Amino acid sequence: MYTVSQLLQKISSNRNLCPQPDLEIYSLAYDTRKIRIGINSLFFALIGQRDGHQYITDAYHLGVRSFVVSATDLDIRNFPNANFIWVEDTLAAIQQLAAFHRNHFEYPIIGITGSNGKTVVKEWLYSMLSQDIHCYQSPKSYNSQLGVAISLWGLDEKFDLALIEAGVSMVGEMQALEEMIKPTLGIFTSMGNAHDEGFISADLKIREKWKLFQDVAKIYAPSSALYEEQLRDPRLICWGIREEDMLQITDIIKHTRTTEVSLVFDNSIEFVLVVPFIDTASIDNVLTCALVLADLGIDWPVIQKKVDVLGPLEMRLKLKKGRNNISIIDDTYSNDVASLQIALDFLAQQNQHNSKKVILSDIEGQRWDEQSKSLIVDALNRHGLDEVVLVGNRIQEIGARLNMPVKSMVNTDELIKFVSTYTWHDATILIKGARMFQLERISNSLVEKSHETVLEINLNALEHNLNQYRAHVRSDVKIMAMVKAFSYGSGSFEVANILQFHKIDYLTVAFVDEGVELRRGGISLPIMVLSPHESSFDDLVRCSLEPEIYSLRILKAFVSYIRELGLKNYPIHIKIDTGMHRLGFMENDLDDLFFYLKQHDEVRVVSTFSHLVGAGSSSFEDFTHQQINLFRRCAAKLEAQIGYSVVKHICNTSGIIHHPEAHLDMVRLGIGLYGYDMAPKNIRLNPVSKLKTTISQIKYLKSSETIGYDRKGILSRDSVIATVKIGYADGYDRRLGNGVGKMRIHGHEVPTIGNICMDMCMLDITGVQVSEGDEVEVFPNIMQTAIDIGNIPYELLTGISSRVKRVYFYE
Ligand SMILES: *Cc1c(COP(=O)(O)O)cnc(C)c1O
Repeated sequence: MYTVSQLLQKISSNRNLCPQPDLEIYSLAYDTRKIRIGINSLFFALIGQRDGHQYITDAYHLGVRSFVVSATDLDIRNFPNANFIWVEDTLAAIQQLAAFHRNHFEYPIIGITGSNGKTVVKEWLYSMLSQDIHCYQSPKSYNSQLGVAISLWGLDEKFDLALIEAGVSMVGEMQALEEMIKPTLGIFTSMGNAHDEGFISADLKIREKWKLFQDVAKIYAPSSALYEEQLRDPRLICWGIREEDMLQITDIIKHTRTTEVSLVFDNSIEFVLVVPFIDTASIDNVLTCALVLADLGIDWPVIQKKVDVLGPLEMRLKLKKGRNNISIIDDTYSNDVASLQIALDFLAQQNQHNSKKVILSDIEGQRWDEQSKSLIVDALNRHGLDEVVLVGNRIQEIGARLNMPVKSMVNTDELIKFVSTYTWHDATILIKGARMFQLERISNSLVEKSHETVLEINLNALEHNLNQYRAHVRSDVKIMAMVKAFSYGSGSFEVANILQFHKIDYLTVAFVDEGVELRRGGISLPIMVLSPHESSFDDLVRCSLEPEIYSLRILKAFVSYIRELGLKNYPIHIKIDTGMHRLGFMENDLDDLFFYLKQHDEVRVVSTFSHLVGAGSSSFEDFTHQQINLFRRCAAKLEAQIGYSVVKHICNTSGIIHHPEAHLDMVRLGIGLYGYDMAPKNIRLNPVSKLKTTISQIKYLKSSETIGYDRKGILSRDSVIATVKIGYADGYDRRLGNGVGKMRIHGHEVPTIGNICMDMCMLDITGVQVSEGDEVEVFPNIMQTAIDIGNIPYELLTGISSRVKRVYFYE
């Protein structure tokens, strides 16, 4: 994309020191957890909640060699060969580059601002436009000083139009955003009272937002949101009820699920637009989008088709089915008085249950004064609620003024405890909270799980298991987690992310591809690759993955690859074969290895390891000791020969429990993390994954009928047979047919009957009270199931097909 020296010219820097000015930069980095290709990243040490300068070492280790910094006392001798650019203000520097990049593109850029609805309008417009043109949108709601810069960096010549969201919370901020975005068209969504803290008056606030439109040709807006001053703007194209509005609304009729909006466009076209929402905010946002499309020349019947498929936005109000017949309105994205009112409005429209409750956190981003308080009190009192739960220290102050039962919680943790012991049923519950309260944790715990065949992954169980093993190892022993084979079937970065959060030391994958995927998912922990192949060295190095070196051949190939890149000390891991006889150096091979290593500083050994063949089995006790002793001997020789010490490890899951004397410097935790241990001892594990499906059909059949292919399932009595949507193509082994496999329905174990089909199989549910659509647990006891067919849980777990949807729960 750009070289460091090109970018350097666009940054107002005090000084620089760039030994590698030709390095190519693809990404702007500011968070070490998000660095993907270190060498092609330009890292900005931003000063925010944390000082980005503290992460330079981490970034350097991730391969970053180009930094924009403001600290003058930085000791850059620790970062050989890296480019450093010193500036006054690192945020301003990232913005300068965003503006520079944006200037390469001539296509229309629509700048979107307003108090509410920015993200919704952006996402909806995107979904309506992107069917016909190549459209870019800022990710999520990246609308801040940093977010906009990152958004703009994503612009590319392959687009024809871009939608960029801009948000401000204080006077003076929009100027910088405008200079970066330089929008050619503008959209103003609404004028609520969010972020009032930074503004003296509503008038000032709208003027500040209007600065985004300095150079735009047209501004789309609802006229009702504007003041005199803005309404005089000749570039304005409005929707509203005024005659002069380009899109004039003449009537609105609300039905149970839809709203009919009668309109006149451009004084000539009459149309009745059917909007698939009934809440005011959604209708407003739809009309803003429709206005833009109509002005772009799209016909109303086409607009109608696009509007038909709009759905509620994930990150805004989310309506979900909960357990015990509850409905949840999940609005845990932000919380201000205006959006609370909108959410209550939405709650009022829910008529599926008589009982209505609200869980409400502190209000964020605006003054907490008497005026705000009474607005909230009035809004809640007006809605006929039968219970309110207040979360947070501030919001509790209004408790006494509410006319319904009130519960008060200090924080979300306390609320979670409460929710776990208390059952709500037959109610609609609005969960409305400021971002920082993370009330989505509550809504997730109340939600009913999906109805297809899914593998539910309980990330809390994963944490629990990790902690169980942690308790078994000394605190100075490092932990490497095995996330190979899609984390034993349970997921890639979703799992790795939790492990990273819990600060484990290393991750291990089988193949480079798996490591690449983790990096893409934002995983920055060091990653070892068990089976690196020469053809994948490119990706391996690009993603800072560390190879297992198991033979001189692979070592030589790797060293010559690294030499060509001109790199030194690339981390590698030496695998020693102590008896597994799979991959690894035999003791006899070591002298050649040492000789070669001493001559090559392209690589540096960070660890050496071996693998036990039967750590959990007492019958292999002697062999295990032999392996451990052999490994210790080889590792000691290695260290003596290369002249520095390395991390030594040999224990897998069973080894951790059965051979504490062999924990050495690090242990490699695999299946135990996922809740299974072939030889458990003093440890309580929770299974991480649960495979679930549902009953598609129930049949009442006479004895003598047969079930399935080849008439294998023979009925010896009148029976009730259920068909479930899981077959061998999903990973349900054919050997589990004809009664070998058992599934669990409502606490009853029921056998399979007949052969397993590709996508389905049948269960004998005679005598068990169930109905179609009921949930079925496929492997109620996976250990036993594996034994029954001469298998191991490893294979059953990793065999669950990728077409089975993974759903993650983290409460
Ligand atoms: C898979 C693997 C492990 C983990 O084994 P578990 O029995 O799942 O704990 C450890 N080390 C190596 C080299 C492996 O391939």
